Amino acid sequence: MVQTRPRKALIIGAGPVGALTALSLHRRGWEVEVWESRDDPRGKDSAPSNLRSINLAISSRGLEALRSVDPSLAEQFQAEAIPMKGRMIHHVDGKQESQLYDPIHGQCINSISRPILNQRLVESLPSSIKLRFNAKLSSVDFAHRKAYGASPSQEHSTKKKKTSALVPGEEDDDGAIGGGGKKSKSKGKEDHEDEEGTPFDLIIGCDGSWSKVRTAMMRMDRLDFSQQFIPHAYIELHMPADPSKPGGYAIDKNHLHIWPRHAFMLIGLPNKDGSFTLTLFCPFSSLATLDTRDAAARFFKENFPSAVEIVGEKRLLDDFEKNPRGNLVTINVTPSVWSSHAVLLGDASHSMVPFYGQGLNCGLEDVRVLNSVLEKHNITSTTEKALGETDSSLELALKAYSLERHEDLKAICELALQNYTEMRSHVLSPLHQLRRHVDTL
Ligand code: FAD
Repeated sequence: MVQTRPRKALIIGAGPVGALTALSLHRRGWEVEVWESRDDPRGKDSAPSNLRSINLAISSRGLEALRSVDPSLAEQFQAEAIPMKGRMIHHVDGKQESQLYDPIHGQCINSISRPILNQRLVESLPSSIKLRFNAKLSSVDFAHRKAYGASPSQEHSTKKKKTSALVPGEEDDDGAIGGGGKKSKSKGKEDHEDEEGTPFDLIIGCDGSWSKVRTAMMRMDRLDFSQQFIPHAYIELHMPADPSKPGGYAIDKNHLHIWPRHAFMLIGLPNKDGSFTLTLFCPFSSLATLDTRDAAARFFKENFPSAVEIVGEKRLLDDFEKNPRGNLVTINVTPSVWSSHAVLLGDASHSMVPFYGQGLNCGLEDVRVLNSVLEKHNITSTTEKALGETDSSLELALKAYSLERHEDLKAICELALQNYTEMRSHVLSPLHQLRRHVDTL
């Protein structure tokens, strides 16, 4: 009699894409194990301080992907999000101008807390999924289909202290750079030292822009890979709630706020507590000239007087000085799969600049598309192959996934780059009314 067993997926990264992938494959009947280098977020009140951006915009693309795995997830996130029906342009003279995304049907994008999104997705994972936190993939032996993890104590002894200077090689797992970022692991906290290695049928790299899975795949086969930084950094600032205003919102809560200033811009997304997370996008070369508190104060007062008035000069400058400067990169990989044994999803496969508000939305969409390709190719939850043995039907399905996704992802990375000019400059021109896009920032 032929023996069958569940297929085994090892997912690296329990960010939003990794967590949704785990849930999706578990529902297909696969055996799922997840490794995440950070602490377990479940049941925590506050976010780890090294997460990129406090909030983000989730659109119908992302909600549809969540719905495809579990309709209640999409409902839950929509209930926790703040709809943004358009952009609010803040001119230098203080005038505000609303530009609705969809004046006819009223479609919105939604501001949601990134830690809450991530936490809820991880909390939705059933206990039959093996979750390992503080478990960092260090290498993959594709010849034997085994993954190896490094212990946190080793990591600490080899990692250089971060500074606020941009050195791409010194990126954190999530791309955050130096300055205020604290590590989530405590020194000396031991995890497994996986000398035996962990076997898998399929390893799924959901490990973000600086993916280790991708690096290992690139040693196995001819993967086309490109990485392009833009000259701009991003810095997060905080606009606190104003208790004298309804809900604490000092500016309209149902807009994505933009202070476009051509070469640079400030944006603001609402949080549930009445505060806004502001993000300054500015060339590194210009930031280098703001090297004293006075110079920074002049810059903000000249360019963003209304924001200075609401936030307060001291608070704004304190944040500006202490918060990390993040870099913005576009990454493309093709194919994003190797044999029947590896696939990259989310930022690991397609990091994009955030100006289209679609990086995460596309990552979640990867999960939906992969699921539908597995369905179409009749990839069942069980296999007769030995653990790690190559499976030609799964290999075909993965190839089909990579082909189907490639052009769409290339296009959206390009659109994201173009939308930066739109947001920081074109929105100031009357012609922008003809160029409105729904489902973008
Ligand atoms: P990540 O969120 O990077 O998660 C990767 C996970 O893998 C992390 O938890 C990390 O700890 C873990 N990991 C990494 N290496 C290892 C390892 N070796 N072993 C184990 N675990 C590992 N997108 C939108 O859709 N809308 C927005 O409005 C938006 N705004 C943004 C604003 C900014 C400023 C930035 C920088 C990005 C924005 N994005 C937005 C993009 C979005 O943040 C990313 O696309 C999204 O976080 C990608 O999710 P992910 O799960 O693929 O990767």
